[in-house]
Amino acid sequence: MDKINQLDSLLCGAGRVSVTVHTHPDGDAIGSGLALTGYLKECRGLDAVLIVTERIKTSDLLSCLDCASFSRTCPEMEAELKSSKAPKVLVDHHLDPDIEAFDLVFSQTVVSSTCELLYRILKSLPDVGGDLAKIPMRSLEALLTGMTTDTNNFSNSVFPGTLEMASELIAAGVDRDRILSDLYNQYRENRLRLMGFLLQENMEITPSGVAMMILDKETQDRFDFRQGETEGFVNIPLAVSKVKMSVFLTEEEGKFRVSVRSKRGVSANQFASKYFHGGGHEMASGGKLFFPQDIPSPSDAKAYILNVTKDYFGI
Ligand code: 5GP
Ligand code: MN
Repeated sequence: MDKINQLDSLLCGAGRVSVTVHTHPDGDAIGSGLALTGYLKECRGLDAVLIVTERIKTSDLLSCLDCASFSRTCPEMEAELKSSKAPKVLVDHHLDPDIEAFDLVFSQTVVSSTCELLYRILKSLPDVGGDLAKIPMRSLEALLTGMTTDTNNFSNSVFPGTLEMASELIAAGVDRDRILSDLYNQYRENRLRLMGFLLQENMEITPSGVAMMILDKETQDRFDFRQGETEGFVNIPLAVSKVKMSVFLTEEEGKFRVSVRSKRGVSANQFASKYFHGGGHEMASGGKLFFPQDIPSPSDAKAYILNVTKDYFGI
């Protein structure tokens, strides 16, 4: 039986479905999560919810989206997912997914986003049969939203199928202009002030061509920073010709959250896994830098990056 039919029969036998995504969810995670729950509820009549840990215990089908392993969820959810006996379906586009942990795996790395992969899956399901009118409009909107954020509005990881998907969704009535306005023209003024400050006062470029910005607690307080508001900042330094890779650190309790982006030919994935306990995609990855385990205190982050870039590039 092919995977689409396997998925179809899992859905036919299910009643209560939990859909999970990775922690600190981005547009692709939330977009694919809402798209799938919208479809499961409206087209399949299932009791489907985008997660909420408690529910895992009582679900008879689990679906993990944009989340290559259970460890990419929060610790409480990771434990629940591991111990659940319900069949588990993975839909994901990251490198090295933990396929052993799932009963049915849809994993594609040559694709823009989980939303694009989910779009193809939903279209192929027998009840939809390629007819987008059969998928709820809010799912279609969520799919275009997640694909847009993961491609940084069509500036990376765009494949022929990505443009096809966009074209078909717009033809099906999805209002892309409204999505773009909601995504990119509704920020607080503080976000732009913080961006200006980081670029002017904080960004440094190492001799090896790695740009770093470090958002410490003091700067967060000064600009009344709220989680998610620096989305996209890590991409900006790549505009500089000599910059090969960009690293953005955000201080949290006991650690920095690290975002890494690289230009073609440099592996953000390798760099994030070697020095920041992380991974992701070849040119867009993330990880963590713990203190006092990796560095004695937050103020040592800059020296750490200087060291590891020297180790990695030799200069
Ligand atoms: P971002 O920089 O936008 O937070 O993440 C970029 C990519 O790296 C995403 O695909 C994300 O899933 C992945 N990523 C972010 N943080 C981690 C991490 O701590 N571990 C792993 N394995 N991947 C991460
Ligand atoms: Mn994604």
